[in-house]
Amino acid sequence: MLYSSDPYLSRFYYTYSDLQFLLSRHPNDCIRCEVAGNCKLQSLVQEEQVDDNMWMKKSTRGSSEHPEHTLHDHTSPSIYRDMDKCIECGLCVDACAKQQIHAIGFAERGSGMLPITAFDKPLSETGCISCGQCTLRCPVGALIERPDWHRVLDVLDSRQRKTIVQTAPATRVAISEEFGLEPGTVSTGRMVNALRQLGFDYVTDTNFSADLTIMEESNELLQRLSGEREGSLPLFTSCCPGWINYVEINRPDLIPHLSTTKSPQQMHGTISKCGPLANQIAVETGEEPYVVSIMPCTAKKDESVRPGNRGDIDAVLTTRELAKMIRHRNIPFASLSNDGSFDSPMGESTGAGAIFGASGGVLEAALRTAADSLGLEDAPLEYEGVRGVDRGVKVMTIKGVGSVAAVSSIGSAIDLLSNDDWKEKFLMIEVMTCPGGCLGGGGEPKSDDPDILKKRMAGIYNIDSSSAIRKSHENKEVQQLYQDMLGGHPLSETSERLLHTYYTPRNSDREKLYRFLSAVDHRDAKGAASLCTDDVIWNTNTGLYGAACGKEAVETLIQEKLPKADRVYGEEFKRHRLTSPVEGTDVVGPDGSKHHFEVTLNDAGLIKTLTRTSI
Ligand code: SF4
Ligand code: SF4
Ligand code: SF4
Repeated sequence: MLYSSDPYLSRFYYTYSDLQFLLSRHPNDCIRCEVAGNCKLQSLVQEEQVDDNMWMKKSTRGSSEHPEHTLHDHTSPSIYRDMDKCIECGLCVDACAKQQIHAIGFAERGSGMLPITAFDKPLSETGCISCGQCTLRCPVGALIERPDWHRVLDVLDSRQRKTIVQTAPATRVAISEEFGLEPGTVSTGRMVNALRQLGFDYVTDTNFSADLTIMEESNELLQRLSGEREGSLPLFTSCCPGWINYVEINRPDLIPHLSTTKSPQQMHGTISKCGPLANQIAVETGEEPYVVSIMPCTAKKDESVRPGNRGDIDAVLTTRELAKMIRHRNIPFASLSNDGSFDSPMGESTGAGAIFGASGGVLEAALRTAADSLGLEDAPLEYEGVRGVDRGVKVMTIKGVGSVAAVSSIGSAIDLLSNDDWKEKFLMIEVMTCPGGCLGGGGEPKSDDPDILKKRMAGIYNIDSSSAIRKSHENKEVQQLYQDMLGGHPLSETSERLLHTYYTPRNSDREKLYRFLSAVDHRDAKGAASLCTDDVIWNTNTGLYGAACGKEAVETLIQEKLPKADRVYGEEFKRHRLTSPVEGTDVVGPDGSKHHFEVTLNDAGLIKTLTRTSI
């Protein structure tokens, strides 16, 4: 009998002939596989020196009734499914069920068994929220994050573009595990040094933008409390893209409660493309920087291509992908000196920015700033009541403010939102899709240690407690950015344009319109046409462009008639914007003109007609 060290897999045992059977239907493609070197099947087979002679003929996947099961599905912006590598352990189904999403489940019996989506739909057309918890549990290469690290290495090696990289709060702790360091070790300086050795020109810190996020979000909370701002209370945090996906897919009624503040990743992307560094690079090279983010999260890949965000970040890599790049370039991470420091601007951060990586951290950081804004002199600096990595809801009442809640895992959020009690109880609710928050993100290193989240959390709170400055509004670089380019204060007209975002119920006319206009802004003719029926009518109501009838005409109008998108590098990308963050199809064009769109969709959610009128 062969036993696995995986706590779930060890409930089963594999016989030698089981392994032979698995191999007989496996692609055995280790040489090109993304998880080679970190694959439980590969290590079992290596340990036992299994040969596949017993099964002379290759077995096939799926059942005789359903041989057509989708084996390769790369439609999701975050997750790759290669089911020919699946060993039917069920860990992914278990992970998705724990999240209460149930996007994947077993079909068929016996040797035909396979975890598939409902009706075998592409993952991008299911209720999958891109959390990546399934990729964290999959012991082989059947479910992985979409691999983007190869193209980033190509850009770095070519030395053709100036590059800016940002690193998320949780990555600097978890990356240590990939190189044999004690879990919980803070490797900020080692990570910065490794990124410089990989060839990044500017190494910047997402913690800086976490502080910027707090400036906008805490002021948004105060304005909603005073009735100065559209939007409902309690305020839901918006920095977790899995949570945003969940709301847009399943609970669009909650959209008015979502903070409109962009996530730290996206704020950082925007400032990287049109802030001080981008200006400097534009003067030096006449070009736009290539912007990369390193995140503990698979859903951040998805977030970076949302309309309104698209183009601000060129590649999102997970912590696991960063480790692969470092190994690939033979950089001795563990023995690097831990003294590297971030570039400035976008390198300074506070303890409040650091704790974004843990469940409860965003709430705690916002409370530190809101308490000072409200002049609460005896407010604490630390809010122990919202800390902790276990799944569930942590509640705290703050004297002079009210009650707040931190929700760890989307399943716990679903439970909380199953009745309306939360509407009366809380002022602000933080939701993190993954258990423990970002430190348990779907892009973090795989681990069999049952205490791994607690160890990572200890590392993150160590960064906070040893920080000289622990409140976001005391970050000097953030203050300078407000003076230099953000209109002097949070929620200024410029901040609203650059640092806030919009939400759309999935498959609504509003969503399809926003995606279509985003494709138009990027002159992505095929992308725009793919959202339309074959006989779509797009009436621009202008003498110059008239009406386009049919998909081909839509492509031609975008490709050949619209002026080329005229970018001035280092300056803001001019794009269509929805007028309201929560509802309607009124739009402000890139030139500031205002329009109303009438949109009709067919049953499959494709655009049938699109008519623009000026308002
Ligand atoms: S999943 Fe594992 S065994 Fe299969 S090809 Fe990849 S590394 Fe090799
Ligand atoms: S990414 Fe999350 S929601 Fe999607 S299939 Fe995996 S566990 Fe389920
Ligand atoms: S996809 Fe991965 S986690 Fe899911 S059943 Fe197959 S091997 Fe197991």
